[in-house]
Amino acid sequence: MSHAYEYMTLEITKKKPKKLSWAWRIPAMVVLPAIALFMTLIGLLMSLTIIGFIFAIPLFMGALGMAVYPFAPGKFKSYKVTCPNCDKKATVLQDREDFKCRRCGMPVALKWHS
Ligand SMILES: [Zn+2]
Repeated sequence: MSHAYEYMTLEITKKKPKKLSWAWRIPAMVVLPAIALFMTLIGLLMSLTIIGFIFAIPLFMGALGMAVYPFAPGKFKSYKVTCPNCDKKATVLQDREDFKCRRCGMPVALKWHS
């Protein structure tokens, strides 16, 4: 059995979305972006030095994720998957259509079930 374009399919069951109550989300929509803003300011101060800039990048990324999270919970869910070809473990974000195994280069199509 040989195809010109060979790939494997992996079926993943989606995690149940965590129920975020509004009592938690509303304060989070205010507090998390505020913390994110604070982190961004610290990051800006740190990037004044070249070494600080390296540390500031993950800070910016973290700040962005935190600011957006209460508005879109579940968008950033990650799943541990195993390459069906070589058993290498990988992490994929929910609703990604495919990923390529870093070890064997096998393209893997992802099928999501809710
Ligand atoms: Zn692999």
